[in-house]
Amino acid sequence: MYRTTDCNSLRKGDIGKEVTLAGWVHVSRDHGGVIFIDLRDREGITQVVFRPEENATLAKQAHGLRSEDVIQVSGKIAARVSGTENSKLATGDIELIPSELKILNRADDLPFPIDADIHNEDLRLTYRYYDLRRPELSRNLRIRHRAAKATRDYLDSQGYIEIETPILSKSTPEGARDFLVPSRLMPGKFYALPQAPQQYKQLLQVAGVEKYFQIAKCFRDEDLRADRQLEFTQIDIEGSFVTTDDIFALTEGMLSAIFKATRNIDIKTPFDRLTYREAVGRFGSDKPDRRFGMELVDLSDDFRSSNFKVFRGALDAGGVVKAINAKNFASLTIGQSDELTEIAKTFGAKGLAFIKVEGEWKSPIVKFFSDAEKNALKSKLKIEEGDLILFGADKWEIACEVLGRIRLRVAEYQHLIGKGQSGSDVWDFLWVYDFPLFLWSAEENKWNAMHHPFTRPKAEDMALLDDRNKFSEIRAEAYDVVLNGVEIGGGSIRIHEPPLQAKMFAALGLTTQDQERQFGHLLRALRLGAPPHGGIAPGLDRIVMLICGASSIRDVIAFPKNNRGMDLMSQSPADVDPRQLGELAIKLASEKKV
Ligand code: ASP
Repeated sequence: MYRTTDCNSLRKGDIGKEVTLAGWVHVSRDHGGVIFIDLRDREGITQVVFRPEENATLAKQAHGLRSEDVIQVSGKIAARVSGTENSKLATGDIELIPSELKILNRADDLPFPIDADIHNEDLRLTYRYYDLRRPELSRNLRIRHRAAKATRDYLDSQGYIEIETPILSKSTPEGARDFLVPSRLMPGKFYALPQAPQQYKQLLQVAGVEKYFQIAKCFRDEDLRADRQLEFTQIDIEGSFVTTDDIFALTEGMLSAIFKATRNIDIKTPFDRLTYREAVGRFGSDKPDRRFGMELVDLSDDFRSSNFKVFRGALDAGGVVKAINAKNFASLTIGQSDELTEIAKTFGAKGLAFIKVEGEWKSPIVKFFSDAEKNALKSKLKIEEGDLILFGADKWEIACEVLGRIRLRVAEYQHLIGKGQSGSDVWDFLWVYDFPLFLWSAEENKWNAMHHPFTRPKAEDMALLDDRNKFSEIRAEAYDVVLNGVEIGGGSIRIHEPPLQAKMFAALGLTTQDQERQFGHLLRALRLGAPPHGGIAPGLDRIVMLICGASSIRDVIAFPKNNRGMDLMSQSPADVDPRQLGELAIKLASEKKV
């Protein structure tokens, strides 16, 4: 037996007990020959004190210990000398007086001190197995485990069963680039890693499973960000004979179970619901962060006959005039206003008009406003001394997005996103629903599915599918669940009727032959009595990231890729033996040039 207990269990009541502990030397200090070791295991730390007067041989042995050596120590629990207790440590009242020390393994020179705040993430990822020993990351992994367990328990309690689906599968059009895997048995052919088990979970409904879930690995060859990895984990869910309300209730129950199990937090359900139009119109985003105000205010009606050409022009062209009031931000710096203007341009505006309310209204545009327009601004935006008013005058989509981005940046400048009253975390969950079915791609000159091609148009808008000019108006039975401005999951009710699915594919520009080649299996399955079905796929990494208060999903994934998609620890991706390529009938383009 390596140990009788862990390093976080011993308390005053254990004084006098003989115990054996095992773990890593967290810190060792030599106080005039007396060696103090903080012995660490995944549960915590216990102090071990080697006094030469009590056991000279052991003290000498302990003298040679270095950080991260792995040791086993047996001895007696004693009270710490009065005045040296450490109230910050759960075991801070006691210490272990050893009678035996065994060095189980030595640690080399360390890549970085374990208790330091290391900003070089690449270094941390190169030595990830060591980095993960740090208490914060070890805690994150355990929270992740709790979250996954709560998910399974909850979904099981609702009759959902976990079914694994293939990793070597066929490309599913979820909008991202696929990872391809060459087939050796069929040279020249490729599998694709699943971007999500979307089609499989729908086929399982045709199979009569009725309630499916899977904690599923998904793969998307995309550019990486703080909340994106090439491979990530979804809680993939699909049910038959379900409505949107059923999916909402199931997801709310599951998230409640996860928050209870991980943080003992009772989240408020049901979540608020906003339509896509409302979310984007009021917050400039389909994943609104509502932890602060600064909502977008529509001023279109007030400026319809304005003398200010920029506003008038936008309105005459069918656009809108909107504004936000950044309270007490008239004092912004030139650097900040330049950055906000840059943001506006990046997201499609020609520039950024704003008014600083400092005694008078300071802005070159104010002279064009009539008194009525000024009064409308004043009352609708509740303008007061010290405010900064920022405008968007453009197509609805552009004006909203620009102001939405600016709203978030201003909130960062002003540190508006903080704790709630009494300093507690704020958990603002909401549903965004009634997403558009299609998105126009100017690049490809075609309509794409906003969610995916299996998403059902809303019954009320079904007739518009016959008129391409109306595609932008069609709403989908699609929804996202949002937490504190982060999309933590999305889903939809699906198309279960073969003719409607074929119509949808055609709308997306797929010929009958393309449909057969890419989706023949799905269309055939739908023809064999597919039940109405729908689902959702919350992202486990993002949920756990928010629960842990981490700023990147990399902090809640054991072995993540860095922001260039590399596993620095094992140096992957890597070259492979030319023989392996030969077996796959693959020739590298770079080889040919040589
Ligand atoms: N498969 C979708 C996704 O990964 C989610 C869903 O529709 O259930 O976004």
